[in-house]
Amino acid sequence: MKAKDYIRLDQTYGAHNYHPLPVVISKARGVWVWDVEGKKYIDMLSSYSAINQGHLHPKIVKAATDQMKRVTLTSRAFSNDRMGKFLKKLCEVSGMQMALPMNTGAEAVETAIKLARRYAHERMGIAEAEGEIIVCENNFHGRTTTIISFSSDPDSRKGYGPYTPGFVMIPYNDLEAFRKAINKKTIGILVEPIQGEAGINVPSQGYLKGLREICDEKGVLLILDEIQTGFARTGKMFAYMHEGIKPDILCVGKALGGGLYPVSAALSTRKIMSVFTPGSHGSTFGGNPLAAAIGSASLDVLVKEKLADRSRRRGAYFVKRLGGIKSPKIKEIRAKGLLIGVEFHLKPGETVRPICEKLMEKGVLAKDTHEKTIRFAPPLVISEEEIDWAIERIKPVFEGV
Ligand SMILES: *Cc1c(COP(=O)(O)O)cnc(C)c1O
Repeated sequence: MKAKDYIRLDQTYGAHNYHPLPVVISKARGVWVWDVEGKKYIDMLSSYSAINQGHLHPKIVKAATDQMKRVTLTSRAFSNDRMGKFLKKLCEVSGMQMALPMNTGAEAVETAIKLARRYAHERMGIAEAEGEIIVCENNFHGRTTTIISFSSDPDSRKGYGPYTPGFVMIPYNDLEAFRKAINKKTIGILVEPIQGEAGINVPSQGYLKGLREICDEKGVLLILDEIQTGFARTGKMFAYMHEGIKPDILCVGKALGGGLYPVSAALSTRKIMSVFTPGSHGSTFGGNPLAAAIGSASLDVLVKEKLADRSRRRGAYFVKRLGGIKSPKIKEIRAKGLLIGVEFHLKPGETVRPICEKLMEKGVLAKDTHEKTIRFAPPLVISEEEIDWAIERIKPVFEGV
C-alpha cells in the first residue's frame, strides 16, 4: 500500500476531526521518523511534546516490556507494587505532595477542576452552585464537554452546548485583569505557563510569580496546566520553576508517558488532596502498573539525561540558527527552551499550512499552531548536528515564502 491508500482508508473509516499533513509514518527512533515508503523525516512536533525523551527511548521501552511480562492492570480495586513508587518520584520532581493518577491530559484537568471545586465548597466556604474558576482567553486545556465550555476558540466549542457554567474568562498575561476578576465566589485560576496551542504565547517575565502573589493575597488557588510545558520542555523540569514558585494544583500528562502510553495526573498539597474520599473520583486505568512503570522510567530518563539543561541549551542554539534566516515574512520568534514558535506576516485568510507542507517535502515535520505560527518542539534528545540538519532544510523554505 502507498501513502495515499492509507490516507484514503483513514478518511473512509475514521472521523474527520483532524487535518493531518499527508505523511504516513510507520517507524520512529529518537528524533527521526520514517514513512511507509522509507523516506526519513525529523520530528519537530514530538506529538505536541508527548515525546520529550525521543521516540522509543530504550530505557522506557525496556521498562514497558519488562512490566508487560509481569502485570499490566489491576484496577484500583487492588493495590499494585508500582504505583506508589511512581507517584513518589512524580511528587519529588515536581515539589508537590500528592498525586492522583489518570490517563489523558483532559482527565488531569477535569480532576483538577473537581478537586478545586470540592475544596472550595468544603474548605473555602464557597457555595456549590456559586464557585467560579478564572481561565484565560485562547486557553487550551483539552476536549471534554466541561473543558471546551470555557474555550474561546469557536472551532473547539461550536455546537457542543449546553455548556458547563462556573468559568470566567480574562485576558492572558494580564495580572491586573486577574486581580480585578477576583470576588467572593472565586475558587482560583486555571492557566498555562505558556500557551502552546494559542501559538506559543510566552507571558512576560514575572507573570507566574505575580499570579502566585495575588492568589496568596486573596486566598484563591493557582492551578497550572503543565501538560505541554512540563517535563523539561521549556528548560526546567516545570515552567513554574523558572520563577521559583509552586502551584496549588498541577496538571501533567503528555511526556509523562514517554510517548509510549497515556499517563497523566493531577497533583497538589496533602491538605487540598484530602477532599477526595473513596468513591469521589476514579479511573479504571489510572495508576495501572504498566502506566506506573512507564511513567517512572520516563521520569528517570528526564532526570538522568539532564533533559531540562539540554532543552535550555539546544533551544538557545535552535533559536540562534532560526534568527539567522533572513525573510521579511518572519514576524517574530517566541521561545522558551525547545518550545519554539515562528510567527509569519500573512494576508488575512492565509495560514502557514503551505509552509508546513513544503517543510514536510524537505523532510522536516512541523505543524501550525494557530494559523500564523509554526511550532518547533523536537524531542529534547536532539543534538546540534540534528538541529543543523533541520535548519539546512528550513532555511530555503522560509526564504522562499
Ligand atoms: C494536550 C494538552 C491537553 C490535553 O491533553 P490530552 O492528552 O490530549 O487530553 C491539555 N492541556 C494542554 C496545555 C495541552 O497541551
